[in-house]
Amino acid sequence: MGMDLMRSLSFPPGSHWAGRDDTGSSIAVPCFLHRWLAVSDYYQLDELLTPEENDLRIKIRLFMENDVAPIIPQYWETAVLPFHLIPKLGSLGFLGGIIKGHECPGLSATAYAMCISEVARVDASIASFCLVQSCLAMLCIAAQLGSESQKDKYLPSLSKLHKVCAYALTEPDYGSDASSLNTVARKVPGGWVLNGRKRWPGNSSFADVLVVLARNTSTNQVNGFIVNGGSPGLQISKIENKVSMRMVQNCDIELKNVFVPEDDRLPGANSFQDLVNSLAFSRVMAAWVSIGIAVGVYDACRRYLGERKQWRVPLAAFQLNQEKLVRMLGNIQAMWLFGWRLCKLHGSGKMTIGQASLGKAWITKQARETVALGRELFGGNGIVTDFHVGKAFCDMETVYTYEGSYEINALIVAREITGISSIRPTSRL
Ligand SMILES: Cc1cc2nc3c(=O)[nH]c(=O)nc-3n(C[C@H](O)[C@H](O)[C@H](O)COP(=O)(O)OP(=O)(O)OC[C@H]3O[C@@H](n4cnc5c(N)ncnc54)[C@H](O)[C@@H]3O)c2cc1C
Repeated sequence: MGMDLMRSLSFPPGSHWAGRDDTGSSIAVPCFLHRWLAVSDYYQLDELLTPEENDLRIKIRLFMENDVAPIIPQYWETAVLPFHLIPKLGSLGFLGGIIKGHECPGLSATAYAMCISEVARVDASIASFCLVQSCLAMLCIAAQLGSESQKDKYLPSLSKLHKVCAYALTEPDYGSDASSLNTVARKVPGGWVLNGRKRWPGNSSFADVLVVLARNTSTNQVNGFIVNGGSPGLQISKIENKVSMRMVQNCDIELKNVFVPEDDRLPGANSFQDLVNSLAFSRVMAAWVSIGIAVGVYDACRRYLGERKQWRVPLAAFQLNQEKLVRMLGNIQAMWLFGWRLCKLHGSGKMTIGQASLGKAWITKQARETVALGRELFGGNGIVTDFHVGKAFCDMETVYTYEGSYEINALIVAREITGISSIRPTSRL
């Protein structure tokens, strides 16, 4: 088996451009790179992007292809995050995404979506690392929930990835029903004392700070707290044996009398409802993670079907394989347009919570089908990590479930269009 087949996501044959930009300034883009992007860009969707958005997309693709694609399968297999990549990721200048000021990039939602999908095209675990950092934790601090002094204190170092953060909402007994969370925050002189348990927060085993959602024992409402990763009473243990997103450091967390100074309570987070807008944006970006995964699988399939032969002809010559490839391509064009429109609606301040949920639910469903078709097209090689597609297939399962499962997002849309909520059962068993 040749290295070409093993490195199915690498540069197209004949291209040896080694241009890099570690300073974050814009780069000149050779024209062959536009053709290269066009492999899955059948409807020339890049024409819907500004030159800056296109350049940023290519800059991230080059980083992912050069620095990440060659090394990533072994990290996935051993469930270790490639920590040495964090400073380079930080220097690319897209973490913090749409946040303006506080040394954050202030990108358009579309530009940020391009970055996230290009990362996910090569590796969904690293895209999830970025999503937790940028959309969940940082955006929670930035989106009117944090004070100006909290934004000044935390956002600059988080946007450069000099510091890493986590977002702790889900609990062992409260996943989809997160608004019923059980972790409590009790007011004491000078601050708050937190007690409870969290499950799943990504990055939390090594995070410098964690945004923790807890129930205020006086008001019974959900409040937000910035917790130092080294706080006494904070016990964090990594969830082992995941079959999906193996590199994401998801953890079980126990908070036993963890003290948080008053300065680190998010003053704008006074009920679960206050979190909903930033959660909606992160759902759109989760949808873009799945678009990236699907594009990566499609690109790998295009190449693989042309190179591997059965009955002495390329796999691409079989009609059944061609139909699968076409279904994947159609899905990608539709998902991309849907995701692009959501970014525009968000940018103009018109996006509703239901629209974000429809995007997350529908796009991840189509992406899941697309990735499963790709796995089929790779035959046996579709279940080993050497060929990228098996890893993507496993990772896609998480994206279908996190940031609100398919079902919960579908019910959020249904509530918006019918005016009737069927999320909460009317009677208890
Ligand atoms: C890899 C990974 C990373 C994660 N990262 C984070 C993170 O960084 N921070 C964080 O806080 N959380 C994180 N999560 C948690 C994630 O958001 C939850 O797993 C998700 O919300 C689903 O909750 P659950 O797993 O408890 O499933 P459950 O809520 O137990 O749901 C199980 C099934 O029942 C369905 N279901 C539940 N309620 C209803 C209903 N009313 N109607 C119809 N169907 C329903 C669900 O759709 C699902 O299919 C992560 C999860 C994973 C797997």
